[in-house]
Amino acid sequence: MAATGRKAREGTTGGPRGAQAHDRIVQSVVDAIADRRLPPGTKLTEERLAQIFGVSRARIRTALSALAQIGVVELRPNRGAFVARPSAREAREVFEARRIVERGLLDRLAGAGPLPADAVARLRAHLAKEKAAAAADDRVAMIRLSGDFHLLLADLAGNGTLATFLDSLVRQSSLAIAALEVRQSPDCAAHEHQAIVEALAAGEGERAMHLMMEHLGAVEDRLAPDPGVPEVDLFAVFGRLGEAI
Ligand SMILES: [Zn+2]
Repeated sequence: MAATGRKAREGTTGGPRGAQAHDRIVQSVVDAIADRRLPPGTKLTEERLAQIFGVSRARIRTALSALAQIGVVELRPNRGAFVARPSAREAREVFEARRIVERGLLDRLAGAGPLPADAVARLRAHLAKEKAAAAADDRVAMIRLSGDFHLLLADLAGNGTLATFLDSLVRQSSLAIAALEVRQSPDCAAHEHQAIVEALAAGEGERAMHLMMEHLGAVEDRLAPDPGVPEVDLFAVFGRLGEAI
């Protein structure tokens, strides 16, 4: 974007530029949470974020409200905004919801026999990316690709509403894993994804379903209470992005 004054960039009444800044802030925070650069429980100070993104505190407040609506930020009265930190009970609920939704998605996906060749090709291409990320020990990519595998299955199942719902559940379960996992590891084990794809490719819907339930159970089993919240410097995470918006 051409260099313009801060006021003009930000907009005063939420015009197109204001909307652009809003989307940019929301996406930056969502990405930083997904990549675990912002761990659960991190305080999101309005003033600092306003400096970082080069916008008003009012604009930051609006973005934080939007983030709270998708469940990744928690607004605490008189205390401010924090990266959501699911309790063990909330985490169990998220995984229960995932089992219900993903069972339905796989049922829809595998109910009509073996998957079409192009769908299998997309899934195998995704597995190759997961393997490459693991080989390169690229943790951020591994976490993203773990969630994307499940979203790809939702996409192939062809129900946009369920896919949107699952997107929110995957974000929340990733937060739960970040908050409560016993040891640091990617959200999913890639070889378990591979087994699910092979079952789907062979038209073995029941087996694919069984493997998926085992897979979600294995991910959930890694959760354990872990109350520590590390100190995070918001400037170190985002740099000064104000000029780029
Ligand atoms: Zn998985």
